[in-house]
Amino acid sequence: MKILEYKAKELFETYGIPGMPGLVVDNLDDLEGKIARAGLQYPVVVKAQVQIGGRGKAGGIQFADDAAGAAAHCTRLLKNELRGYMVNQVLIVEKVDIRKEWYLSVMLDRENKCPLIIFSAAGGMEIEEVARTRPQEVKKLPVTPSIGVQKSTSRYLLSSTGQPLDYLDAFHGVLSKLYDAFMHSNCLLCEINPLAVSEDGRIIALDGKVDIDDSALYRLPGMIEYRDAQQDEPLVKEARLHGFLYIPIEQGGSVAVASNGSGMLMSCIDLITREGMHVGAAMDLGGGATAERIQEAIRILLLTPGIKAVLINIFGGITRCDEVAGGVKLAVENGGKSLPIIVRMEGTNKKAGQEILAGIPGDIIFAEDLRASVQALLERKDIL
Ligand code: GDP
Ligand code: MN
Repeated sequence: MKILEYKAKELFETYGIPGMPGLVVDNLDDLEGKIARAGLQYPVVVKAQVQIGGRGKAGGIQFADDAAGAAAHCTRLLKNELRGYMVNQVLIVEKVDIRKEWYLSVMLDRENKCPLIIFSAAGGMEIEEVARTRPQEVKKLPVTPSIGVQKSTSRYLLSSTGQPLDYLDAFHGVLSKLYDAFMHSNCLLCEINPLAVSEDGRIIALDGKVDIDDSALYRLPGMIEYRDAQQDEPLVKEARLHGFLYIPIEQGGSVAVASNGSGMLMSCIDLITREGMHVGAAMDLGGGATAERIQEAIRILLLTPGIKAVLINIFGGITRCDEVAGGVKLAVENGGKSLPIIVRMEGTNKKAGQEILAGIPGDIIFAEDLRASVQALLERKDIL
């Protein structure tokens, strides 16, 4: 899960990484009062909170010398789109006089199976350009987890990029805290860009980008609340309550697919798409295909606008096909929507399941295998 800058800032601060005093707002009410009560000094930076890089270049980072200026920027940014992303929050922070902008990150290096530190003294908005044209200015250092970040690591990063060692203590402080944040929060990426050296010689994180391993979120309760508050896709949220993964695929797609496993989902989507049909949504049911779960999954899938047929593909040795079929029956009885439901299932009690399916009124089809289920869809292509 990628988190917004303000949340990354919060995370960094719990680890003691210096940032500027700031305030998050999601509306324009009494902005001047809020800024004053937060004790912020002008000038300030007004920063759109959206999950895109390069906000500076897109107009999402603005400077203001007074309350009127801050209000004007907030008005322009809040509830408006920036590069296609809705700005629901704005972060207002005290502005720093910057001497230098560095780039610093710790990321998971999957190839070498260890954390990797990336540092460049030429940070800021042009970092991608630097990486492309002057890769020697971007230092990459793998970390041995049993050893961690040593002061010699920090010294090497500064000296090999021509930075004065006066900054060593402060820089090492930031790097070791960033590394701790990365490890303890099970991150895939913890990035500070720019890590600014201020005119008065302090080292301050001015922007944060953090990507947390989704599988570790349960260990970070604050992050789960954050995710649920941020999540603006109601069907994803509702599916999650049942332990399903709902994946919007193609807007306006007319086929919904449910399966127990992401690999099977992908093959279903591929086969359907190859036949010129369009998948609107997919649902990974995870384990435990009980009748109730199947019913809920169908119900949620049918809330997707534009769905005209459902393909259910359940493959499991111990999965009981009579449960799966029972779920389809419940969904049809309680759903009030009549549309083709194609079921390919494999597992215990397959015969009993097939019989239940045959007894459900409407266009309910049992398919022997995946190809047959796609074929059944194809036969209904005119309504899709
Ligand atoms: P990004 O473009 O999405 O990465 O947004 P950043 O938060 O990194 O801001 C972009 C650029 O705005 C930075 O690289 C800085 O040059 C500038 N900037 C951000 N905060 C400050 C600040 O407090 N003072 C000054 N002088 N510039 C800032
Ligand atoms: Mn940045």
